[in-house]
Amino acid sequence: MAQITLKGVGKTYAGGVQAVSDVNLDVIDREFVVLVGPSGCGKSTLLRMVAGLEEISQGEIAIGPRVVNRLEPAERDIAMVFQNYALYPHMSVRENMAYGLKNRKTPKSEIEARVAQAARMLELGPYLDRKPRALSGGQRQRVAMGRAIVRQPAAFLFDEPLSNLDAKLRVSMRGEIRKLQRRLGTTSLYVTHDQLEAMTLADRLVVLNGGQIEQVGSPLEVYHAP
Ligand code: ADP
Ligand code: ADP
Repeated sequence: MAQITLKGVGKTYAGGVQAVSDVNLDVIDREFVVLVGPSGCGKSTLLRMVAGLEEISQGEIAIGPRVVNRLEPAERDIAMVFQNYALYPHMSVRENMAYGLKNRKTPKSEIEARVAQAARMLELGPYLDRKPRALSGGQRQRVAMGRAIVRQPAAFLFDEPLSNLDAKLRVSMRGEIRKLQRRLGTTSLYVTHDQLEAMTLADRLVVLNGGQIEQVGSPLEVYHAP
């Protein structure tokens, strides 16, 4: 069963820029799909349309069985991890992780259990009462992951989540994201311009060029094509 379905999806920005054209894609249950392509090819526009942060100009996007074109971001069964982490500076790590659940009226005991479990998985236990400014870049990135995990969404969306980390941390976080995804079995759509990151993470790669799908295949098929 497809977890994210895009049918003839396009985006025309005000002024007439056609950033994305006629994208057809099924991200299947538990699959890790990475969107790659040169700067300006429409990766982030596509992801933001799935997230509900950008209006869909043409076509249809479904998450699970539901067409989400007209749904607010919070009504879509997804959680997004941003490049700049988008943490609330005045809230502790614990509050940042719980915030999305409080909005959804999840019982307090359930929120606490989910935050504790995510903190264990991400080794954030000792930092739960700190504010984001008192964390390293890698720790902030984990909090952003934790906030997505506690939602238990049908799909994770990642927008260049490792781009602000130094090279060494990027490599280790790459491994951790993959491990977490396998363990949680969550469907993921991940945007990066980093070829190594794409090859390490992807079950399937989607290469965008000029707003259109140019190639779809496994990392081996895409990067070692004869
Ligand atoms: P094949 O014809 O052997 O399936 P392709 O290169 O056409 O090989 O496709 C490789 C994989 O990618 C297949 O699983 C195919 O279903 C999938 N695929 C191809 N194009 C798309 C697309 N636009 N959207 C989603 N999946 C695609
Ligand atoms: P990528 O993420 O691959 O770098 P983007 O999705 O950011 O690409 O951009 C795709 C195209 O859409 C580019 O030509 C970009 O200039 C244009 N674009 C992006 N955002 C806007 C916007 N808000 N208004 C007009 N054009 C935009």
